[in-house]
Amino acid sequence: MRLGDLELYILIAGRWKADGGLMFGVVPKVLWEKQKPADGQNMIDMACVGLVAKINGRVIVCETGIGTKLSEKRALQVALREPEGLLHSLRRLGIRPDEVDAVITTHLHWDHAGGLTRRDEGGCLELTFPKARHFIQRSEWNFALSPDMRSQSAYVTDDFTPLADGNDLVEYLEGDAEVMPGVHVRHVGGHTPGSQVLVLRSGELACAVTGDLVCQTPHLRVPWTMSADIEPLRVLQQKARLFDEAQQHRWLLVLSHEPDQPAGYLEEDGRWRPEPRLT
Ligand SMILES: [Zn+2]
Repeated sequence: MRLGDLELYILIAGRWKADGGLMFGVVPKVLWEKQKPADGQNMIDMACVGLVAKINGRVIVCETGIGTKLSEKRALQVALREPEGLLHSLRRLGIRPDEVDAVITTHLHWDHAGGLTRRDEGGCLELTFPKARHFIQRSEWNFALSPDMRSQSAYVTDDFTPLADGNDLVEYLEGDAEVMPGVHVRHVGGHTPGSQVLVLRSGELACAVTGDLVCQTPHLRVPWTMSADIEPLRVLQQKARLFDEAQQHRWLLVLSHEPDQPAGYLEEDGRWRPEPRLT
């Protein structure tokens, strides 16, 4: 779809399943399962939603999903499907990985940063987008290298340390920034210390990639948050702020893990109006 000068392609970078309790925290299951039915293992359907944006001749990849490096056992545990989704979508758009100018993930958890790196045929780690600038909050990078006990399993250093190993492809951000003309990054924290929301703008029009501030459509209710959030109250504040702006200025929202209706507009009455065209 087009928003002014922006050419946007919303894509699914992989499908998987996660525990419903992890996704909905203190919300009672009798409430969330009406919207997101769980299977016999209490798992609900998830997607890794990504976005490719073309702006002023530059190609930007937002979010990279789980990628292809999971062990067979782990891939089975999370029922991973279509892990090559991002690269397949790029191929369909006629974009080679080395033609991507910038990559922005909202944070460095395994299900958002996994696609930053891959293994070559010999099993060696390589960068998926070898010429792109990668914009990451410094607070996220530092935390990912030495996470607290609760967060350890969510970070995999193979996903992101190769970016800094002699490659010099990371730009460490200290809070909000306009990283390229029209490409804004907003530091929101909450889910992780350096979580960021990406806002792409063209004049009055804008699209926000929410990351895990808003995972799925039920999370469009401000108090419905994940149990994995490090600072839940900050998530509520930042979510309320984002929704105010999105409603007032009609921002297109792209939700990080929504499998069915990942992009759309939040109406004044709180209803979700999906933007149906998927690439
Ligand atoms: Zn996530």
